[in-house]
Amino acid sequence: MREVYLDNGATTRVADEVLKAMKPYYTDDYGNPSSTHTPGQRAREAVEKSRETIARRLNAGPEEIIFTSGGTESDNLAIRGVLKANPDKRHIITSRIEHPAVLKTCRELEKNGYGVTWLDVDKYGLVDMDQLEASIKDDTALVSVIHGNNEIGTVQDIKGIGEICKEKNVIFHTDAVQSFTKEEIDVRKIPADLISMSAHKIHGPKGIGALYIRKGTGIKPVSSGGEHEFRMRPGTENVPGIVGFAEAVRISSGIDKERIMMLRDRIIRRVLDEIPDTRLNGHPKKRLCNNANITFSRIEGESIMLHLDLKGIQVSTGSACSSQSLEPSHVITALGLPPEDSHGSIRFTLSRYTTEGDIDYCVDELKPIIENLRKISPFK
Ligand SMILES: *Cc1c(COP(=O)(O)O)cnc(C)c1O
Repeated sequence: MREVYLDNGATTRVADEVLKAMKPYYTDDYGNPSSTHTPGQRAREAVEKSRETIARRLNAGPEEIIFTSGGTESDNLAIRGVLKANPDKRHIITSRIEHPAVLKTCRELEKNGYGVTWLDVDKYGLVDMDQLEASIKDDTALVSVIHGNNEIGTVQDIKGIGEICKEKNVIFHTDAVQSFTKEEIDVRKIPADLISMSAHKIHGPKGIGALYIRKGTGIKPVSSGGEHEFRMRPGTENVPGIVGFAEAVRISSGIDKERIMMLRDRIIRRVLDEIPDTRLNGHPKKRLCNNANITFSRIEGESIMLHLDLKGIQVSTGSACSSQSLEPSHVITALGLPPEDSHGSIRFTLSRYTTEGDIDYCVDELKPIIENLRKISPFK
């Protein structure tokens, strides 16, 4: 049976080039970068070269890149680290459509006495800029808004948000795990102070990520230990992971992006044209090049997903993290869809390995599945 993996928003295949670049750091140059002997120094050199590759992609300085264990840790470090460094400021602003790494961190802080403003989004998932501006108070420690949304693909105007924050002198964090290398992020043009990234969403290995910290940002480490990562994140560096992350960044290209975008538009157009009562979620233009999120009225997304899986096609409903529960996704709910429509949304996420044949196979298999599920649907 054909295998079609369209769940690249959850994780991606490690690229062959990435695996090849990583291997020597497991078996040959496996020294600890903190050791001053030769193998240790070779590992150090690999870490610093990788840091430069990632910094260059953001137009940042290498000393502004901190390696972490992934997007979740970067988000936690950004938010908790800023609050720790600014103990007098007890207010946070975030959006209703964050990834759980930000959403649940803010919810927990809210329970512990912090004030949290949850910014509304419009029907495309764009945050309300006027509400943002009006919400900033003297004791606002930081604003955290996701860049490319992992569920609906909407790409937020982080330049606009950053400018508002800069004018009001508030720290701005953005979770760019989905958008990094897909959208251009130049920190000399975009006034973001903290940017979260993760390797496994861009054909790198799992368990490695980074946090960009603009020079001079008030932030403290949240773990105790050695003096690694400019004293911001203790722990022996994941050298092969870091090397693989940098290689994944190095091989990501604009050519891939153009091709993936054409395939994304093909799946959107074919599904909307050929299957009745379907609607695209997220912004029609301001969206990640690899994301198509579509609502199929009157059916459960879970059933669609399971039927597609039987045909060798992997997709997701909402986000992988929330698909265990049958609650409608908080992101889809925030868009203001009627509840009966908020269940039937499917996320198709493409990658550099997706082909036109994959897309056509998926749509051809999807058509009878939807037709049959609608016949037995309790919603009319
Ligand atoms: C996947 C993802 C994360 C979490 O990253 P991990 O490296 O898996 O911890 C955070 N934010 C967004 C938007 C994501 O898509």
